[in-house]
Amino acid sequence: MIITIDGPAAAGKGTLAATLAEKYHLAYFDTGMVYRAVGLEMRQKGLDRQDEAQAEAIARNLTFPKMIELSKDPEFRSSEGGVAASIVSAHPKVRAALLKMQQDFALNPVFADGTPANGAIYDGRDTGTVVCPAADVKFFITASTEVRAKRRYDELKAKGSDISFEKVLEDMKSRDARDAERSAAPMKPAEDAVIFDTSALNIQEVVAKTEEIIGNKLKKQL
Ligand code: C5P
Repeated sequence: MIITIDGPAAAGKGTLAATLAEKYHLAYFDTGMVYRAVGLEMRQKGLDRQDEAQAEAIARNLTFPKMIELSKDPEFRSSEGGVAASIVSAHPKVRAALLKMQQDFALNPVFADGTPANGAIYDGRDTGTVVCPAADVKFFITASTEVRAKRRYDELKAKGSDISFEKVLEDMKSRDARDAERSAAPMKPAEDAVIFDTSALNIQEVVAKTEEIIGNKLKKQL
């Protein structure tokens, strides 16, 4: 079974994906990591993230082990790391270079220790539209910008960051605009995605609703 969860930053995709991955024994791919990895490697090499050719060259050489290694850097999950990821992700050639790596994950979904999974669950912006258009179940999770910025601010604070709420909100707005307006794979729900707004629903309610939808789908597949 392949499930996709798309939507803007801090809407609750990660929590939902991790919960569903455990319940249905699915391997989880947080696809934002591929763009964060390219953004961070460019920063480490002192390259301009607006430079599409340089960004494409880095993207072409990205592997899972390299991405995991880069993810250990504290900058990987920082607010700046998210902005850098959104800049490199707007380059069509970068998206094209990273597509196969993301799609191949669904061909042989395995957990981090190499054991086989029952399928894959993706989280990102275009996983239901571009990466896995034939996914069995697609969700699009959103929430108001303020609610999402407050969640991200609390997360960063808990990790010891001294960033201000205003800066997090500003980064969130610029990222949302870039993700929605870019020409290559702009963030939007797939036509067959089920949409949830988590400003109004708590995560337990979303989990319950998504489990019901997945359960119905599994019954039909039997
Ligand atoms: O989900 P995360 O915040 O880690 O994503 C970082 C950035 O990577 C997003 O703001 C977006 O620009 C980009 N991204 C994307 N397509 C995806 C996942 C992430 O363009 N499937």
